[in-house]
Amino acid sequence: PIIVVGSLNMDLVVRVARHPRLGETLLGGEFHTFPGGKGANQAVAAARLGAPVRMIGRVGRDDFGASLLSIAQSDGVDTTHVREDPGAASGVALITVSEDGQNTIVVAAGANGRLSAEDVYAAEAVFADAGAVVMQLEVPLTAVEAAARLGRKYGAATILNPAPAQPLSPELLAWIDYLVPNQPELRLLSGQTDLDAGIQTLLEQGVANLIVTLGDQGVRWASTARQGYVPAFNVLAVDTTAAGDAFVGAFAAGLAEGRSVEESLRRGCAAGALTVTRAGAQPSLPTRAELEAFLRK
Ligand code: ADP
Repeated sequence: PIIVVGSLNMDLVVRVARHPRLGETLLGGEFHTFPGGKGANQAVAAARLGAPVRMIGRVGRDDFGASLLSIAQSDGVDTTHVREDPGAASGVALITVSEDGQNTIVVAAGANGRLSAEDVYAAEAVFADAGAVVMQLEVPLTAVEAAARLGRKYGAATILNPAPAQPLSPELLAWIDYLVPNQPELRLLSGQTDLDAGIQTLLEQGVANLIVTLGDQGVRWASTARQGYVPAFNVLAVDTTAAGDAFVGAFAAGLAEGRSVEESLRRGCAAGALTVTRAGAQPSLPTRAELEAFLRK
């Protein structure tokens, strides 16, 4: 199985003609709620591809929490280890989207911010047969470190998508088999604007395998021994939301199925490409049948 340790959020989205000024009240347009959070998105991305997925996280004991759990479950994600925390609200993202397509987003981490190393250690038994452990940075670093450490202990492939980017300790980097930043995240982590210089810097910091996603340019990957490039699939992009989450979920599913790194990267690129052809985050993540059909074309 794949273990995803990360965030679950409810995205609250309202359309506006323009964004309000400070102190101003605007009448907005349509309002919708969407399940999100990088952890939940990546868990669903892998589960839609047929991988058995267990998630470790926290939601509040509230209506959003209950629907986040049931939505993840309906996509086949095992949420036994997602705790309902009576001490915090479920994570939410307040999003306004204006007619010209510009967003403002405020994230209230809520229960996600209370995920602890103890929560992760309490689920230690599920790491014993894990093929991959997938992490992001929308939950506290102490929980991420515990997950990486347990993944390493039980011989699973540890995959960290360092988003949103923040400085990482050498200990954490040493427990990660695959670090998967996008270009802005690589810039922040390496302090380098140049792609090659950024890759070199992170390899020198002890990253075993670096995979840099480059949007419609595909991915660069590098270890100290080898490096390479996987081109993107040529598609018409309508909404790039969740491309990175689709990529990470599909890459993890590939590795957990015993595929090679390069084959898993290709499947990640295909999942990312399919996702940008459709609107939304979780609704746009492909199923296994869709991915296989796309790869046969
Ligand atoms: P993020 O969403 O984290 O910024 P990227 O934009 O780099 O991540 O996208 C992740 C992957 O999804 C890319 O490496 C690529 O394979 C695929 N992808 C993203 N955008 C496109 C696009 N416009 N066309 C084709 N593939 C894309």
